[in-house]
Amino acid sequence: MEVTFWGVRGSIPTPGPETVRIGGNTSCVEVRTPDGDLLILDAGTGIRPLGLALQARCEERVIGHIFLSHTHWDHIQGLPFFPPARRRGNRFTILGEKRVDERLERVLAWQYMDTYLPFALKEMEADILIKEIRDGETVVLGEHTLVTAQRIDHPGGSFAYRIRWHGLSVVYATDLRHPPTGLDEQLIELAHEANLLIHDAHFSPEEAQRFPDWGHSSWGQAIAFAEAAHVGQLALFHYSPSATDDMLEGLEKELQVEHPHIFLSREGLTVRLGGAKATPK
Ligand SMILES: [Zn+2]
Ligand SMILES: [Zn+2]
Repeated sequence: MEVTFWGVRGSIPTPGPETVRIGGNTSCVEVRTPDGDLLILDAGTGIRPLGLALQARCEERVIGHIFLSHTHWDHIQGLPFFPPARRRGNRFTILGEKRVDERLERVLAWQYMDTYLPFALKEMEADILIKEIRDGETVVLGEHTLVTAQRIDHPGGSFAYRIRWHGLSVVYATDLRHPPTGLDEQLIELAHEANLLIHDAHFSPEEAQRFPDWGHSSWGQAIAFAEAAHVGQLALFHYSPSATDDMLEGLEKELQVEHPHIFLSREGLTVRLGGAKATPK
């Protein structure tokens, strides 16, 4: 199973000289199973370069599943600019939380209103299916891929996902606030012994204390959580727009002295589960 990071930033895209090495695109992670299943975790602006890469591979049809953690802008804003969604013959299933108050399809269609965009969701030429899933539900893809959704604490709610393929698994847990005096115990169960954990690291420990209502974790909580869940590797993710390359790389260097299994997610980095960490392409 291969995991590639296409957008690792939180809140808003942050291009510029201070973020050029780690990347300024918002949340988007590609997961490929050895069976060839394509899973896309979130549709922030990183989904555009992913789409261009998928088209460059010249596959006749692109078929994939897009799992949304939630519908805050930084997790859906790339969707209208995902080139494969505009090509007839491609097929994408978008999955996200079933809510009592509003259908996922309507929520996604809102960002295509002509006040904001010159084209509508239904004008996308690819076959697009929108499927609502519930907290605790497991979706089966192909023959061997299982994806379990679990609700986590974030303003308006968010889903964490565990993707399993045979004995391998990756857990994606972003936009997540742990309880003030501990960790999300239910999520520890979901993440237990995953090969790779991708975890919200929006804040420094001091910032997390200052902004408890923002619904994010610190990198310190990400580390404590990874230890509690006994995961193989931890990728820090969803950096604050004000976190510069220098700050983050300094932190990584410091952390790796004691925790060599922790690394920064970076745009273009591919990690092969069950093998060594790959270098950025
Ligand atoms: Zn976010
Ligand atoms: Zn959010």
